[in-house]
Amino acid sequence: MLTERMHKALNDQLQAEFFSAYLYLAMAAYFEDQGLVGMANWMTVQFREEQLHGLKFYRYIAERGGRVELEAIGKPQRDWPSPLAAFEAALAHERMISGRINALADLSISEKDHATHAMLQWFISEQVEEEANVVALVGKLRMVGAQGPGLFMIDREMGARAFADPGRGG
Ligand code: MG
Repeated sequence: MLTERMHKALNDQLQAEFFSAYLYLAMAAYFEDQGLVGMANWMTVQFREEQLHGLKFYRYIAERGGRVELEAIGKPQRDWPSPLAAFEAALAHERMISGRINALADLSISEKDHATHAMLQWFISEQVEEEANVVALVGKLRMVGAQGPGLFMIDREMGARAFADPGRGG
């Protein structure tokens, strides 16, 4: 059984993952509007990955006998001043999520919940990857500047990202 505190914290993280999905879909819509279809594709893949993260928490809470509570998801930001600003916002968001995952891991230790601690290891590694991917993109965008052929080359590259569906349960 999950402790009440752990249950609530996992349920809150489920909501945060679905908010992440929603935020990245908002960024996809922004890029569509800018004619940057590769970046829109990249963000749509990100949207699907975040839904899987949310589902991982859903499944884990259910496996531990907890009741999943779906809370309201806030309205994400609609516009960004530039593609670079959007990716900087994505990076800040992922760093915030990493902080939350670390706080969950701290809580699992203080609650002596070894199973939750083990489950969170996947997310800890995933956050390292998430941050590294966005750091690399921010670096590229800073290098090419706000417009020009460099931006379109990056956009074309980002169009190649495909969603890898891990199947049931994520
Ligand atoms: Mg996530």
